[in-house]
Amino acid sequence: MKKNRIDNETLWLTMFTVIPVIVYSRLPDAYFPSNTQNLIYSAIIGAISGLIGFGVYSISKNKTIRTKILILLMFITIVFTSFIISLSQINKLVKSCDVCGYEAYDKKSEECKFCFNERWLNIKNSENITKEEWLREEQLFLFEYDSIENGFGLYTPEIIDGFRKDNKWKPIITIEELKTYNE
Ligand SMILES: [Zn+2]
Repeated sequence: MKKNRIDNETLWLTMFTVIPVIVYSRLPDAYFPSNTQNLIYSAIIGAISGLIGFGVYSISKNKTIRTKILILLMFITIVFTSFIISLSQINKLVKSCDVCGYEAYDKKSEECKFCFNERWLNIKNSENITKEEWLREEQLFLFEYDSIENGFGLYTPEIIDGFRKDNKWKPIITIEELKTYNE
């Protein structure tokens, strides 16, 4: 009976800590372009979410099963709601497309109105590919070495079809890579 109780507690603790960690550690991915920054911020956010989960677990620890389930359900609801709200705030903040660098995200479709690529989190959920692989693939497909002379380069034109290039955006590919790829 005692062992069973310990096992149950481990299960409760796991649910309270692992769920927020899994959910929130995805947030930096929506904002930071590089994998290193993602990793660092995911670790920090993951640790904080785990601690909060542990706090809520401690509150529920000596309560009845019914209260525990209620607290867990409320906690999960709060975790998911706040994740969705944070994600939509981040999406509002990040206006420029990771692939082409133009401020052309469509609010409704979550797709770039210039190069038609989706936001990274949508890709991540549906394809088994790293962000760097995805960016490299799409940028090599989008840009052409021969078009640079005609004004369509990695950083130019500054405005195209009414969309402005984000001056903080950096391509993952280099001109040299593009040249080799197009040869
Ligand atoms: Zn784009």
